[in-house]
Amino acid sequence: MSSTTSAILNTGTSSFSQVRSHLKNGFKTGRTRPIQFRKQQLLALAYLIKDNIPRFQRALASDLGRSDTETIVLEIGGTLGEAVDAYHNVAKWSKHESVPWSVNWFAMKPTIRKEPKGVVLIISPFNYPMWLLLGPLAGAIAAGNACLLKPSELTPAFSALVAELVPKYLDPELYAVINGAIPETTKVLELQWDHIMYTGGPRVASIVLTAAAKTLSPVTTELGGKSPAVIDPSCDLKLTARRLMWGKVANAGQTCVAPDYVLVPKSFLDQFVRACKDVLKDFYPEGAESSDSFCRIISASHFARIKGLLDRTEGQIVYGGSTNEETKFIEPTLVTGVNADDSLMREEIFGPVLPIVGVDDVDEAIEFINARDHPLALYVFSTNSAFKSKVIDNTQSGSAVMNDTIIQALAEGLPFGGIGPSGSGCNTGKFSFDTFTHLRSTLDNPGIMDYIMSFRYPPYNANKRKLYTTFMFPSLPARTAADGNGAPKWGILFIASVLAASSVALIGRTRLGST
Ligand code: NAD
Repeated sequence: MSSTTSAILNTGTSSFSQVRSHLKNGFKTGRTRPIQFRKQQLLALAYLIKDNIPRFQRALASDLGRSDTETIVLEIGGTLGEAVDAYHNVAKWSKHESVPWSVNWFAMKPTIRKEPKGVVLIISPFNYPMWLLLGPLAGAIAAGNACLLKPSELTPAFSALVAELVPKYLDPELYAVINGAIPETTKVLELQWDHIMYTGGPRVASIVLTAAAKTLSPVTTELGGKSPAVIDPSCDLKLTARRLMWGKVANAGQTCVAPDYVLVPKSFLDQFVRACKDVLKDFYPEGAESSDSFCRIISASHFARIKGLLDRTEGQIVYGGSTNEETKFIEPTLVTGVNADDSLMREEIFGPVLPIVGVDDVDEAIEFINARDHPLALYVFSTNSAFKSKVIDNTQSGSAVMNDTIIQALAEGLPFGGIGPSGSGCNTGKFSFDTFTHLRSTLDNPGIMDYIMSFRYPPYNANKRKLYTTFMFPSLPARTAADGNGAPKWGILFIASVLAASSVALIGRTRLGST
């Protein structure tokens, strides 16, 4: 990158179209096409992370008050995994694909080429700043794109660090970082992008989608919502409470797939609450406020929002409930007696507060879930297969996890994404590669095919129409014996023609040889 562009990026006063042109020019050089180049950049990305783990930990501790261990467990391992997985598999993922053999089309060698989309934009949220920015970047690099990264303004230490490291480790003609908030992102979104991956809340997603519609930029949205957990009294209660509470308190509940609320049979409620309280005491024996294993809320406005939900609840706070505005601390909190229209049920909580909703049975739990937007995740705690199947088969969600929480985001080979209002499209691993890849269809039609396919050319007449319906119409499976077996294909005619032509040639050659 030229020193001018670099300065532009660092001061944040840029002409953003200049940045995009810069990346576009880099992309047009064709450097991202060779797999070897992509592997080299993916390795550089992995080392960008590995060489700077303590700096990332310090940045995230400063931004989120997060413990170094939580940063390793929830963020660094997974992001490194994305880069290394892409490094090992990019050659395989990028291979052209032949389509299944078809008598009609095989002669034209139909092939799917896996091509980069071009210059892509990744906008990420504050809660897992590294994983949600550099994870998708691995997919974008693997797919051969140039990329502009827009981290969250709510994590200034992380965002400054990433802006410093990206040009040092990665090709600055192809990968750049813009730091900024709403005004900068608004400007960036006025430009056309070959793909936008937006991770964040649904309100901003509408803004992003509206802006992208104006430039016809394709968008993947990774959003959030209220992810429920359904409890069956047959569950292993201690294990359930431990895994559920961990999903709720990790990153102080600021996790897109955190269990947002719990549906528990009324008859099991007291036992369940007791088990959850025991776990929270075990997690933070000295109290969460003095524990260095517990995060803080990212900003004053997010703190005020969550506290407001808690202040307005008509449920009973049965554990926790204390807050500290100065340090943005919200204690892990359990609230029972929560109704469907409670403040805690109106929006994604995104904090360490767990509303517990009593239900009569699993049917009521399913009805409760289906009356709301499709969640990003759904959790079922049960040892009974029929119970698990019943909940999963009768609901919809981005992912569905039995007997655990939040780990699905890190599971190799599984796509991570929402459905409907919780997001569209998906990422992680090969799914990120696919998101940033254009499937380019190619055919190479030999001249000989015109002997067979000339029915498509004008002037049209009855014979051509007959040929078309005979060879082009798909064969419909028979409803009854009277429907017959459908029409033959032009491919059969092609094979027959080739065979006939070969026979004529062979006979000709034999005759010549005998004279
Ligand atoms: P957010 O929507 O406020 O911000 C996300 C990004 O959008 C930031 O980079 C921000 O600068 C930008 N932005 C904010 N306002 C904008 C505007 N008016 N125009 C253009 N860009 C704007 O989200 P957040 O508070 O950082 O993150 C929390 C949300 O993200 C939660 O809803 C959570 O569920 C969701 N989330 C989803 C996933 C997922 O993978 N599905 C992962 C993490 C977080």
